[in-house]
Amino acid sequence: MPRMTSVRLDQIRRNYGSQVALDGIDLSINAGELFFLLGPSGCGKSTLLRLIAGLDQPTSGRIWFGDRDVTSRGTEQRNAVMCFQSYALWPHLSVRDNVGFGLDVRHFPAAAQRQRVDEVLKLVQMDGLANRKPNQLSGGQQQRVALARALAVQPDCLLLDEPLSNLDANLRLEMRGEIRRICKTTGFTTIYVTHDQKEALSVADRIAVMRAGRVVQVGAPAELYRRPNSGFVAEFVGQTNLLPGTVAGRENGTATIQTPIGRIVARAEETLPEHVFVSIRPELIRVGNGASGAKSANELNRIEATSVETIFLGESSEHVFEANGQPLKVLSAPPLLNVAPRVTVEFDVADVVVLNE
Ligand code: ADP
Ligand code: MG
Repeated sequence: MPRMTSVRLDQIRRNYGSQVALDGIDLSINAGELFFLLGPSGCGKSTLLRLIAGLDQPTSGRIWFGDRDVTSRGTEQRNAVMCFQSYALWPHLSVRDNVGFGLDVRHFPAAAQRQRVDEVLKLVQMDGLANRKPNQLSGGQQQRVALARALAVQPDCLLLDEPLSNLDANLRLEMRGEIRRICKTTGFTTIYVTHDQKEALSVADRIAVMRAGRVVQVGAPAELYRRPNSGFVAEFVGQTNLLPGTVAGRENGTATIQTPIGRIVARAEETLPEHVFVSIRPELIRVGNGASGAKSANELNRIEATSVETIFLGESSEHVFEANGQPLKVLSAPPLLNVAPRVTVEFDVADVVVLNE
């Protein structure tokens, strides 16, 4: 059984001179969790991961592994292992020796080492290529070896920084599923950094969305996607139509909001500020054919629009419509063929997300 640990970050700050790279991060990561740090380039993801790894020290704040305060302990003392984007494999060593390297350093007995290396090579499906050198492997295979090397030392906490960024698109898709399978099979607490929202949505147990050195929302993938707490999260995690709005009235759990595409109705259980944003996901907008005609104005929004652009993608189609001069993205699966120049677009009142910022 792996010795998995929970990880708690308490008010972590990291300054580089006068620049604030991390601005008071609080996070609790459960033992055995596959946890993602997601955010645009430069928001502080790698800086935070290096602090958790013990490769760097916070300017202030504490880091806990379970009930141990590891803030001032080195990487080996906290048994965290970082798997770098560049893989950093030894070119002169075989796959087997690369994977065993961390065990050598830790003076692991030879027989136990051999067994451990066999186990992890099997886990990453590289057991057939144990005697090759790194330059005889594809990018995806090198990435598996790097992962095996990290797993071999049975870390309390496995840290992955953009592990798929050097792979081509197809391999990236394949490795997403693989990394999830491997992490969930071994049960290690894993913290995974990426700027790719699809990677995060498809692999994570939970995700922390970061922006400019802060965590702005934490949640399970579906929760973040369906209930973003800001326009930033709505736009960063998936595609959306984000519109500024003014609340014109509230009744019976709904609000009427004036937006650039016209008046729309949204669910609103609580009082709203006067100025809000609304987020409507492109796949939740239908191009009306009158089939939803039975729904009332309390359930359905209907808006007149003209077709501007259609992109056929095989299994789906992407459209841009214009409503009141404002572009509106629509995603349709199966694809919509022969879109009329003037249409009515429809979306459920329940699918409009109202945001304060
Ligand atoms: P991310 O991994 O999210 O792309 P980083 O954690 O690498 O972001 O960087 C966060 C911010 O800290 C950036 O503005 C970056 O320029 C700055 N930064 C990172 N490392 C250093 C360093 N060693 N010295 C100075 N500034 C740094
Ligand atoms: Mg980075």
